[in-house]
Amino acid sequence: MADLLKPEPRPAPESVPFWEAAKQHRLELPRCEACDKHWFPPSRTCPHCLSTAFRWSEVSGRGKVFSFVIYDRVYHPAFEPEVPYVVALVELEEGPRMLTNIVGIKPAEVRCEMQVKVVFDDMPGGASVPKFAPA
Ligand code: ZN
Repeated sequence: MADLLKPEPRPAPESVPFWEAAKQHRLELPRCEACDKHWFPPSRTCPHCLSTAFRWSEVSGRGKVFSFVIYDRVYHPAFEPEVPYVVALVELEEGPRMLTNIVGIKPAEVRCEMQVKVVFDDMPGGASVPKFAPA
């Protein structure tokens, strides 16, 4: 039944630290040493000031729903038990927006500006996917 497993994350080199922290249920993002801002998705250059000096920094895991859609259609058989589910852009308190899922609430009850907090969805292969639930 391998075809019923969800695809595991396949990190690009610059996002390996993000996924390693997620395995330990910590949300870490790159933080610029020059302008002190966080960003996401991970890259080797700060998108705010173009500095290449940064460190990995744990963030609060708190944010709000910036935008979302409800998926009513099965695009991959492993997701069938979860339909309908919510794919959202969550704006973190620290600024960056993450593409993610909203869980722990009926999809019809999700609203923009809703306060959310990170939760981690451990996968069979060892990865853990950051998702967000009502705060
Ligand atoms: Zn910067």
